[in-house]
Amino acid sequence: MSILVYTETDKGTFKKNAFEVASYAYDIGQKMGESVTAIAVNAENPAELGEYGVSKVLNIKNDNLGTFNAKAYASCISQAAEAEGAQVIVISSSADSKFLSGILAAKLNAGYVPNVVAAPESISPFMVKRTAFSNKGFAHTEITADTKIIGVSNNAFGVHENNVSAIVEDFSPDLGDADFSTKSVEVDKVVGKATIADADVVVSGGRGLKGPENWGMIEELADVLGAATACSKPVSDMGWRPHSEHVGQTGKPVASNLYIAVGISGAIQHLAGVSASKTKVVINNDPEAPFFKAADYGIVGDAFEVVPELIEKLKEFKAQNA
Ligand code: FAD
Repeated sequence: MSILVYTETDKGTFKKNAFEVASYAYDIGQKMGESVTAIAVNAENPAELGEYGVSKVLNIKNDNLGTFNAKAYASCISQAAEAEGAQVIVISSSADSKFLSGILAAKLNAGYVPNVVAAPESISPFMVKRTAFSNKGFAHTEITADTKIIGVSNNAFGVHENNVSAIVEDFSPDLGDADFSTKSVEVDKVVGKATIADADVVVSGGRGLKGPENWGMIEELADVLGAATACSKPVSDMGWRPHSEHVGQTGKPVASNLYIAVGISGAIQHLAGVSASKTKVVINNDPEAPFFKAADYGIVGDAFEVVPELIEKLKEFKAQNA
């Protein structure tokens, strides 16, 4: 028996969450006295996972899997789980991994818990802590099924180096037409920028910025911090920013290490999507703005004065510490 971890790649390169789920799987492996096997699709440097505690990597080389396909990827992972006799499968809680996990759970008759935020509380019984009620609470959940799938929230466990030497094996799952019953014909992706899902830092703007012409300072602040940009719902509804940047209950969830909210009031629907972020900084000219109650750090001030000053100070700091 081993622990299987599905590690996501983007054009052959491991995503940051791949190292986080590998670190998580290693932690469980230590508690269970088991080694960790990873499964990856078209990874260019599969042995890299050894740095995060993976002993064996099953790498699938298949051009048909170049674009994410939930059903086909679920088939690959279930075949790897059966080949390895894995009873614990660790996966990220990204949109793609959540999409495939339901299919995978059905295939393996497994118990699946997404949005897990900490190492298992106990192995027997198998208890995990996950977010609940749109991130406003936690649920302590026992997985009673023999096969367990754990979906780890981004940035919840962290990336930990645990150097082991990983052996790499080619893995060729049996895939048929039924696995490709749907197919992405075209994928439009923002290139060259940090994505909200993977970013450590997210700079987000709200209606307080008055109009799309004022987003230059948000982008500049994001550039200085190597951050992704995001926005509140009305901002994307009004077409000031693309819908891909809308975060909140009805938008994308953010689980970054640092979330900077500029000119955002902190409505409950917005907070629902960002409360999993570790440190929240709020810049708002209204000291009564609800977001301050959820903030770790708050600056009461006019965004048009505070943000340029912040950019200048950060640039100075970077120049001094280069
Ligand atoms: P506002 O509420 O207008 O707040 C603007 C803020 O900017 C104010 O706090 C103001 O003090 C501040 N400000 C103004 N000028 C300045 C300045 N010069 N400097 C600094 N601060 C300034 N919203 C989301 O964001 N995500 C969601 O997923 C989402 N889902 C929803 C789902 C439902 C079913 C519903 C009903 C609503 C949803 N909303 C969502 C909308 C949500 O209720 C709020 O209306 C929205 O989040 C408010 O956006 P905002 O904070 O940008 O704007």
